[in-house]
Amino acid sequence: MTATLSLTGSMLIGASDVRGSGSEIRGVNPATGEQLEPSYGLGDSSDVDRAVSLAWQAFPVYRATSLESRSAFLKTVADNIDALGDTLVSRVVAETGIPEPRVRMELARTTNQLRLFASVAAGGRFLGARLDTSDPNRTPLPKPDLRQRKVPLGPVAVFSASNFPLAFSVAGGDTASALAAGAPVVVKAHSAHPGTSELVGRAIRAAVQEHGLPEGVFSLLFGDGRRLGTALVKHPRIAAVGFTGSRSGGLALVAAAASRPVPIPVYAEMSSVNPVILLPGALAANGASLGTAFVTSLTTSAGQLCTNPGLVFALGDPGEFLAAAGEAVQAAPGAAMLSTNIQKSYVEGFTRLVDAAGVTEVAVGGTDDAITACGQAGLFVTDGDTFLAEHTLQEEVFGATSLVVRVRDVTQLEQILDTLEGQLTATVHADESDHDTVAELLPRLELLAGRVLYGGWPTGVEVGHAVVHGGPFPATSAPSTTSVGTLAIERWLRPVAYQNMPSALLPDELKDDNPLGVPRLRDGAAE
Ligand code: NAP
Repeated sequence: MTATLSLTGSMLIGASDVRGSGSEIRGVNPATGEQLEPSYGLGDSSDVDRAVSLAWQAFPVYRATSLESRSAFLKTVADNIDALGDTLVSRVVAETGIPEPRVRMELARTTNQLRLFASVAAGGRFLGARLDTSDPNRTPLPKPDLRQRKVPLGPVAVFSASNFPLAFSVAGGDTASALAAGAPVVVKAHSAHPGTSELVGRAIRAAVQEHGLPEGVFSLLFGDGRRLGTALVKHPRIAAVGFTGSRSGGLALVAAAASRPVPIPVYAEMSSVNPVILLPGALAANGASLGTAFVTSLTTSAGQLCTNPGLVFALGDPGEFLAAAGEAVQAAPGAAMLSTNIQKSYVEGFTRLVDAAGVTEVAVGGTDDAITACGQAGLFVTDGDTFLAEHTLQEEVFGATSLVVRVRDVTQLEQILDTLEGQLTATVHADESDHDTVAELLPRLELLAGRVLYGGWPTGVEVGHAVVHGGPFPATSAPSTTSVGTLAIERWLRPVAYQNMPSALLPDELKDDNPLGVPRLRDGAAE
């Protein structure tokens, strides 16, 4: 690994360090308020043009890399990030206030994710190779020889998230899946963790150089979202966009992409309150332990997780659940939030619940004056009628606050589920006696969310082949896919069919003897 560990405050545009000529930003420690060195100069549309032009030049070479070499490149990216070790961990802690143990877990998740996509690249299943055998004797018309594979869309723009400074950031799932697909990546760094972004960006760039790849395979830009971010999405050579963040930010990028002369897809993951349904059997059997476990999930990472359980629907008597949850919330200490901006919007959401008619406070957590951007946990309760009458009660409060809704009966619960916006997750707690109700609710839950859980809590997302981290709007702008797990690669690919193409001209994965040995469908059946 050849990347230097010292921070320069520069953007990484291909192989060049470029100091942005605009205003300066710095990382800020949200726990102490300390301004961190160095400053970062913000880039402009000329920097966007330089990065995207390099990406466009790199595209034909990078997409033609062999499956093995693309896989080896992704493994080197993972190794280089691992090699940053404590330097990276301490910078993430300083810039985000996320406790060190969680940062270490997120670091492992990030490099495991890169290695997972290395195996996806090597396996070649993502190419989606399909062959339909010709039949020249078919009447009335001969059947052509048709062969299909997937090709990358082109250079991808990635917007880093604030709440996962590693796993959904510069080398996060969007970048890993796009690079595995054969697409160069231009990242718009999140301004809340610029030093982390530079360290990880240098690790990727070192891997690009170690593998002799064209410099434009990866670039990292710093800049204002509305200006540089919009210019990036509107650049004619950008073919698709990955985003995780606020609903307003995601929708602005969707609108920018749709208003281009050539519209492009935006895969934006935005807002979700992740309803949890407590059914009577589960409440009667385990009300108190469910209450305690729920608050552990609610307060993890100061509640700043996209899968945070922000809404609970209780059918039956939630007395023991509320008592235990209230006690646990009260005992929860104040925790550093990711930034003063995020803390400000959290306080606004929290206050909205405090002031809402028909909503009662169950408990609030501790505060800590020594923490600059401190978040205080909160638990509120209301009834089904109030919830149905006030749409704002289903809005995301990004932080450790949740609203418990006492629901009258299954009919009212179904009515409520029909009014809810799309979600990343929906969770049901039930015992055997509740199974008929679960069966009745399941079709609604499938339409509501990308991941339906039986028991457990939605925080903690397993990165694998069968996971879905997506869902109907506003959970995402593109409900047919996922931003976590190996299926995420599909976002950056499109199928191309080759009709009656001579064998010598076919890509290797479609040749009769399958020289790459990739999984294929021949006449609809696995070969
Ligand atoms: P954000 O404000 O949406 O910012 C994310 C990225 O998008 C940043 O790089 C930002 O650039 C850019 N951006 C924002 N608005 C834009 C616009 N109108 N046009 C172009 N680019 C734009 O998200 P955040 O800073 O991470 O957090 C803010 C709020 O988002 C939180 O309080 C929370 O409500 C929500 N959030 C939700 C999730 C979730 O998974 N559900 C995750 C994170 C955040 P700049 O920094 O330059 O503005």
